[in-house]
Amino acid sequence: MSIIDAFRLDGKVAIVTGASTGLGMGMAIGMADAGADVCGIDYVAMDETEAIIKKMGRKFHQIKADLIKITPEGLNELVGEVVKVFGHVDILVNNAGIIRREDAIEFSEKNWDDVMAINVKTVFFFSQAVARQFVKQESKGKIVNIASMLSFQGGIRVPSYTAAKSGVKGITMALANEWAQYDINVNAIAPGYMATNNTAQLRNDEKRSGEILERIPAGRWGTPEDVAGAAVFLAGQNSDYINGYTLAVDGGWLAR
Ligand code: NAD
Repeated sequence: MSIIDAFRLDGKVAIVTGASTGLGMGMAIGMADAGADVCGIDYVAMDETEAIIKKMGRKFHQIKADLIKITPEGLNELVGEVVKVFGHVDILVNNAGIIRREDAIEFSEKNWDDVMAINVKTVFFFSQAVARQFVKQESKGKIVNIASMLSFQGGIRVPSYTAAKSGVKGITMALANEWAQYDINVNAIAPGYMATNNTAQLRNDEKRSGEILERIPAGRWGTPEDVAGAAVFLAGQNSDYINGYTLAVDGGWLAR
C-alpha cells in the first residue's frame, strides 16, 4: 500500500463524541473525508454534521446521550448500538468536553464534578467499552483522546479542566501501556487555542484575547480543520507505531 493510501480510512467505523459543532464536527467530517463511516454521539442533534457527511457519500448515525451523566453500563450499550448499526467499530475519538471558569478560591463542587465526569471519567470508561469490542473483534483499534494545553500547563480560573485534561494525558499513556499488546493505539491531541464555542468567552475578552494571540507563534487561533488532519493521522495506519503520545496542535504555543 502506498503511504498516501495508508492515511485512508475506507471501510472503518469511527465514533466521535461531541460531533455537533467545533472540533468534534471537524474531526467527524475529516474521518468521513478519509473514507470512514461515522457515529456521532452528543446531547444535542448533529444535523449539520450529518448533512455534510452524507453529502460525501458516507454513512452517519446519530446517538443522543448526556456524557456527563452516563454510566459505564450506558457506554457499553452505546458501543452495542454502534455495532448493531455498522457491524463493527475501529476508531474512537473522545472529543466531547466542557470547561467551567471560576476563581479557584470560589470554585464549586458542581463545576468540579461535571467537568471531571465528561472530560476524564467518560473518556476512560468509553475507551474501556470500545477496547473490549476491539478485542472481541480481534481487530486493530485506534483511540484518539482530546487533551489540551492544560495537560501541560496550569491555566487560570479553570482548575477542574486542568485536572481533567492532565488526567486525559495520563490515561492516554496508561491505556497505551496495557493495550498495545492488542494492537490498540491510544493517543491524544492537545489543541491550542481554537476558535470554537469553548473559547467564545476568552475571545470576547479583548485583553485576554490580545495576550493569547500575541503568544501564539502562528499568530492566529486554530481551526477545526487544523485538528482534523492530526486526528485522521492518529486514526490511520501511518501512526501504528505511535502509542501513548499527546500531540500538540497549537500553532507553536508550547514552544514559547
Ligand atoms: P464546543 O463547546 O464547541 O463543543 C463541545 C461538544 O461537546 C459539542 O458538540 C457539545 O454539544 C458536546 N457536549 C457538551 N456537553 C455534552 C454532554 N453533556 N454530553 C454530550 N455531549 C456534550 O468545544 P470544542 O472547542 O469543539 O471542544 C472539543 C474538545 O476539545 C473538548 O474536549 C475541549 O475541552 C477540547 N479543547 C478545545 C480547545 C479550544 O480552544 N476550543 C482547546 C483545547 C481542547
